[in-house]
Amino acid sequence: MIEIRQLKLPITHGSQDLKEKVCKVLKIKGEQLLSMEILRQSIDARKKQEISYVYTILAETAKEENLYKKLNNKNISLGEKKEYLFPIPGSKKLSSSPVIVGSGPAGLFCGYMLAKMGYCPLILERGGNIQERTRDVSLFWKTGTLNPESNVSFGEGGAGTFSDGKLNTLVKDKSGRNRKVLEIFIEHGAPKEIAYEAKPHIGTDRLSQVIPAIRKDIESMGGRFLFHTCMTDIRIEKGKVTGLCLNHDMWIDTEILILAIGHSARDTFQMLFEKKIPMESKAFAVGLRAEHPQEIISISQYGKEASKILPPAPYKVTSNTPEGRGVYSFCMCPGGYVVNASSEKGKLAVNGMSYYKRDSKNANSAIIVSVTPKDFGGEGPLAGIAFQRKLEKTAYEMGKGKIPQQLYGDFKKKRLSASYGEFSSCTKGDAVFAPLHTLLPGEIYNSFIEGMESFPEKIPDFNREDVILSGVESRTSSPVRILRDEKLKSDVNGIYPCGEGAGYAGGIMSAAMDGLKTAEEVARNYAPIEKDET
Ligand SMILES: Cc1cc2nc3c(=O)[nH]c(=O)nc-3n(C[C@H](O)[C@H](O)[C@H](O)COP(=O)(O)OP(=O)(O)OC[C@H]3O[C@@H](n4cnc5c(N)ncnc54)[C@H](O)[C@@H]3O)c2cc1C
Repeated sequence: MIEIRQLKLPITHGSQDLKEKVCKVLKIKGEQLLSMEILRQSIDARKKQEISYVYTILAETAKEENLYKKLNNKNISLGEKKEYLFPIPGSKKLSSSPVIVGSGPAGLFCGYMLAKMGYCPLILERGGNIQERTRDVSLFWKTGTLNPESNVSFGEGGAGTFSDGKLNTLVKDKSGRNRKVLEIFIEHGAPKEIAYEAKPHIGTDRLSQVIPAIRKDIESMGGRFLFHTCMTDIRIEKGKVTGLCLNHDMWIDTEILILAIGHSARDTFQMLFEKKIPMESKAFAVGLRAEHPQEIISISQYGKEASKILPPAPYKVTSNTPEGRGVYSFCMCPGGYVVNASSEKGKLAVNGMSYYKRDSKNANSAIIVSVTPKDFGGEGPLAGIAFQRKLEKTAYEMGKGKIPQQLYGDFKKKRLSASYGEFSSCTKGDAVFAPLHTLLPGEIYNSFIEGMESFPEKIPDFNREDVILSGVESRTSSPVRILRDEKLKSDVNGIYPCGEGAGYAGGIMSAAMDGLKTAEEVARNYAPIEKDET
């Protein structure tokens, strides 16, 4: 195969143009191109007058080595498709199925791989299946009645189900896990272009079909799911996990326990802490979600003409305060909604989501400020959770259960907003104006404003007075790390902390990849299970 990089085409091009360009660059005729695959497609918007798509292509031709030598082009090399390789299974015999706690991306992809390789995993999920969960979340957004076990954070598919479904990750992927995760998504109904887009996304509407399709496949390969089943206790004997309690009621035996619990399972963190599972407090970030009209974001990124052709534009803004705090945009949702993503009664947290078409009129992203254990003001590994809870309680109280909002101009002037400016908010869940300027601790409030005031260098008008702020964005990543060694194991034998809640991922892709990595480690040690042994 021949890899061609930096292949540029105008944004109006068609698929035939791409094929012709490949042939032109390779100096071959159409019939000599045996096959071609897009490895990557990104948008180069550095020069607004000539915005283009940039491709990396893997092409198959006859006599590739000769052709490659003749071309002598720095953007062309001999390439191969990176295959994901699952390790050869170990030989230790398992006495029962490995148990995975959590059906978010980490648990689901770990479960998928273990089931495929014959380990018959049992996946426990405290929330409901996708239909039940969708009903509970819709009811919550309509009436404010929260089900603490089935909400935007808990239930089939985990925190990522009601999301924008962005699939980009900063994790370098020498192992092919990134590609494998995307392939699994596509095999179960995700859009094909996620395989090559630089910023792939699925959207809530498509995710809620893809996730149950993966679950059904896991079940067909010998895996089992128990919904409405919360792990409430664990049994440790002689430094080894030997069992776990379901719903405070029934104990089951296991020697492998994969903790893919996400970052919102605060009661579970507490239980694990009491059981002396080694864990530590971890830095994260808090702030507010900011909404802008999508049109001004797209024009700022692509210019007026190109913005009419290209999909709604994402953005990324970052800055550092003189005090050394990072202020940055996070989980940006083009054409999205601000969602009430609470999971505890009397507490309120927001997040962002979008549908596949990203067709709401607003862009939103979390503008967050880094916080460290020094800011938490408490001691021990769970101090970050106490800090989050305090902010979420204040947010709940100031909005009386509705999403508290304030226009940025009023936030700066520390006065209540009376009405929206030139655009109104796109939310899932009711919103109400409230004094958000009193929510964040002083230093974080100041850093937030410093960041907002510096972002117009990159996006004009980013700090306009009528930007709509919603609070509080407190679940940006886990405030806790459950320690694990290089073999992904806790000090307590048999426990594998996995995914975002354990502190080893920061989004859907990295959590899913960590799920694969954990499945590989289990397989390296243990032999697959004969079906009648489970
Ligand atoms: C609204 C929203 C939008 C988001 N948008 C994006 C995005 O566009 N792109 C992106 O990359 N990331 C996004 N994220 C973050 C992303 O969803 C998470 O990073 C990812 O889901 C983490 O995966 P995980 O499997 O580690 O944990 P989770 O997805 O949190 O899954 C953990 C699961 O464990 C279950 N659980 C917890 N404790 C127990 C227990 N004791 N017993 C049984 N089950 C338990 C929970 O119910 C949950 O289903 C978004 C998050 C939210 C909330």
